Amino acid sequence: MLTLAIDMDEVLADAAKKLKAWYYRDYGKTFEDEEVKGKDLKEAVIPEHFSLFRKYCNTPGFFRDLEVMPDAQEVLKELNKQYEVYIVSAAVEFPNSLKDKYDWIMENLSFITWRQICFCGSKSIVQTDIMIDDRVRNFKDFKGRKLLYSAHHNIFETNYERVNNWKEIRQLLL
Ligand SMILES: [Mg+2]
Repeated sequence: MLTLAIDMDEVLADAAKKLKAWYYRDYGKTFEDEEVKGKDLKEAVIPEHFSLFRKYCNTPGFFRDLEVMPDAQEVLKELNKQYEVYIVSAAVEFPNSLKDKYDWIMENLSFITWRQICFCGSKSIVQTDIMIDDRVRNFKDFKGRKLLYSAHHNIFETNYERVNNWKEIRQLLL
């Protein structure tokens, strides 16, 4: 079986949606698609709020109830039968996220066992056959097949094979 590493935030779980919702809750500002094209959210707010998104991410509970990306459960369940699947998240960046992320996987992806979960710092140690991720920095040292999952911040990247949603992942890998 081929090994497959799958990122969590912006691939399996919609973290950006909740970050935007919390920013709206605190500052009443919504984000238009245009203003976050090719950018991180922090680049679309005033400099004084630059570090705010990190604070949100390290708030206990933030990652616990994120929405699952459309079709992710169904397609991942199928992939799990044909590939050696690993959920790989650089979760250690936000220590308070670790338990939330684990509980989120157990609740939403109940067919995934603890042996298939890799919470790490740098993803440079990951050498599976395939990696699906929305951050091109995670592809830097990766030698396998790279699938860039589309997100507002990576929309102008042209150097990678791209998937726009889980239906496209199904078409490519199943
Ligand atoms: Mg991600």
